[in-house]
Amino acid sequence: MKVIVNQDACIGCGACCSICEEAFEIADNGLSTCKIEGEIPADLEQGVQDAMASCPTGAIVLAEADNSSEPAVEAA
Ligand code: SF4
Repeated sequence: MKVIVNQDACIGCGACCSICEEAFEIADNGLSTCKIEGEIPADLEQGVQDAMASCPTGAIVLAEADNSSEPAVEAA
């Protein structure tokens, strides 16, 4: 799975960073950001899910599969 922090929803409380510091950090703008841009490693998934569940504003959301960065699969 991939997650992103909705910067419009995050209030910078730091809960996610406390729960899963491997995946989240407070950026210079005072808001959380997910340090892992790609797939969340399996050993961090539980921590990330705990952080998602604990976020008071629901700012941590699953990222949709990003079709724009992957070439379309064309039939041979
Ligand atoms: S728990 Fe939610 S509101 Fe708090 S810093 Fe993390 S993403 Fe932002």
